[in-house]
Amino acid sequence: MTEPQTPDPSTFGPALRLIRKRRRYFFGTILIYVPALWIAHSISPTDRAMGTVFGVWVVFLVITALLSAVVTCPRCGNYFHVNGMVILYLRKCLHCQLNIDADKPDKKKRLQAP
Ligand SMILES: [Zn+2]
Repeated sequence: MTEPQTPDPSTFGPALRLIRKRRRYFFGTILIYVPALWIAHSISPTDRAMGTVFGVWVVFLVITALLSAVVTCPRCGNYFHVNGMVILYLRKCLHCQLNIDADKPDKKKRLQAP
């Protein structure tokens, strides 16, 4: 009899930390949009300056969105936030429902979730 191979849950920590870090970059980029435009407007309220800041912000948004989308789940090996053509930034893997905080000590019970 062969048991199905399941990865050791104690090894999920580095991969889940990477997922959380890339999510922080992505959401941080979204949150910085209004302050960046406000600062740019206070320095130089021209359309050209605002357009430049917006363009730079879009480039950072695309980069951080792609980096956070291609990160893989440590338990199932699929993309954590991507299922087919759908990108959802939920706190669970879209394939195996592994919680993003499953490696934290008080959240160990979440490893048992289906
Ligand atoms: Zn998974």
